[in-house]
Amino acid sequence: MSSISLVAKSKLPTPWGTFTLVGFQETGTGKDHAALVMGDITTDEPVLGRIHSECLTGDALFSLRCDCGFQLQAAMQNIAKAGCGVLLYVRQEGRGIGLLNKIRAYHLQDQGADTVEANVALGFAADMRDYTICADMLKALEVKSLRLMTNNPRKLKAMESFGIPVAERVPLQEGRNPHNEFYLSTKANKLDHLFKKT
Ligand SMILES: [Zn+2]
Repeated sequence: MSSISLVAKSKLPTPWGTFTLVGFQETGTGKDHAALVMGDITTDEPVLGRIHSECLTGDALFSLRCDCGFQLQAAMQNIAKAGCGVLLYVRQEGRGIGLLNKIRAYHLQDQGADTVEANVALGFAADMRDYTICADMLKALEVKSLRLMTNNPRKLKAMESFGIPVAERVPLQEGRNPHNEFYLSTKANKLDHLFKKT
């Protein structure tokens, strides 16, 4: 049984083109998630895709503590340029710990902890995200395989294990700045993220 159901669809014009906005509801929790779709993503060719975890601070509040907002914008621009692709907007703030705990973790980071140490100090695993719902959203959208825009090898393995083959990893390098340098190097060192050496 699928962990999500597709609830509604509409058009969503953006500065980079008009997407179809698809709303999903998670069966177990009632949580809502969204996808942006452009072109025919049901083809047998691998489809350009991004699995974006919600980051209110980065996506909407212009935070420089992370690279999320920059990656979201770059992914939408890349899909618009290709004329075809899918972006999942998954409501798993702070690698799954939620907004308030993320702010608590930021407070610990202000005092010198790194992003992994802060999550662990608050009693969470370094990464609490559930990729089952992502795979189920892609299946509901009839995506057969992906060219996945990510620096996170865990996402590649997760999609493969849930039956969505990843034909290619497309790196996203946008958004590095002095405020997130330590955060990004922690992601590279402790969470195996793949960044180009600078
Ligand atoms: Zn972020």
